[in-house]
Amino acid sequence: MGFIDIDKQYVANTYARFPIEIVNGKGSLLYSADGKEYIDMGSGIGVTAFGISDDIWKDAVIAQLNKVQHTSNLYYTEPCANLAKMLCERTGMKKVFFANSGAEANECAIKVARKYAADKKGQDYNVIITLKNSFHGRTLTTLAATGQDKFHELFQPLTGGFVHATANDLGSVEKAVKENKACAVMIECVQGEGGVIGLDKEFVQGVEKICKDNDLVFIVDEVQTGNGRTGALYAYMNYGVKPDVVSTAKGLGGGLPIGLCMMNEKTQSVLGFGDHGSTFGGNPVCAAGAISIVERLTDEFLNEVKVKGEYVFNTLKNAKGIESVSGMGLMVGIKTTRPVKEVLSECIENGVLCLTAKDKLRLLPALNIPMEMLKKAVEVIMVAAAK
Ligand SMILES: *Cc1c(COP(=O)(O)O)cnc(C)c1O
Repeated sequence: MGFIDIDKQYVANTYARFPIEIVNGKGSLLYSADGKEYIDMGSGIGVTAFGISDDIWKDAVIAQLNKVQHTSNLYYTEPCANLAKMLCERTGMKKVFFANSGAEANECAIKVARKYAADKKGQDYNVIITLKNSFHGRTLTTLAATGQDKFHELFQPLTGGFVHATANDLGSVEKAVKENKACAVMIECVQGEGGVIGLDKEFVQGVEKICKDNDLVFIVDEVQTGNGRTGALYAYMNYGVKPDVVSTAKGLGGGLPIGLCMMNEKTQSVLGFGDHGSTFGGNPVCAAGAISIVERLTDEFLNEVKVKGEYVFNTLKNAKGIESVSGMGLMVGIKTTRPVKEVLSECIENGVLCLTAKDKLRLLPALNIPMEMLKKAVEVIMVAAAK
């Protein structure tokens, strides 16, 4: 006990942390140094997809640790190859680039889009259209892609070539395409950090069509929505569209840092030798962990995610003190009448850890959270919201 003070003294002050010292956990339960038990409704921001210290995941990771933990990308390793094959077979995408985080996965997507246009139309076609209220990461380029001014102010100049259109307004996207030398449109199907707001189906399909008509790269950022979170393997599958590039990270590694960028037949040959790289990308331990996650995202399992999501949605939507519930699958945003900070504090007091997104409570529980535990957490949230 007592590492909060050390952290405060030596770790950069970039996070407003809760005064909880997490020491261990199992599944969807976390334990703090003072012995308190919490139901984990945040899963490390949608990362521990099968919960804490999951046995199958742990066995896969340890087995790989006992073989080789890193080789560099100068050589071939099996987990990386098999994970790429598995994902391409499940999505119809053709090639995978491995990175280590969501922001890096998006950096790759952005490089693919720029080079695609540079090869076909010329380097001046470099503008990427993203949406207002989006979130794409914290590097200077993915910050520029992020359509929220509050992230931009103190870090100018950001990478140029990003224009922000309005979500669910196709006219706004069309206008941005017309007024700029564009190479791509990039969207999140459900804006996570922006408040768990699902885009309209007609809008997403319209963006796909605009990209087709103008030979733009259609990028879907699945960093948060991907890997089963919405009840589909990737959220775009709920929309009946086929992106040219998909980025993902968060839940993929089950808790290990891995991100990746998938390319389809249109974009698979854009990157050649030396165009991109990463020292840690495709790390065999992370890839082995990811295989153990993706293998379990069967149709049957994904259907359970949907059922659990519907339970949360239907239970909360008409509850006292709850104004609206948004999202998809086990990615849920809850607008409460009470200030969200008060609801959050009360949930913590009563042993339930939730997240927030803007002015909403956000739930991203482990995908395999037992129904009984989910019910208990939802009850605590309802009581807190009703006060
Ligand atoms: C979290 C997130 C990112 C950034 O991921 P990092 O791993 O933190 O770099 C990018 N896009 C979306 C949609 C996210 O939710």
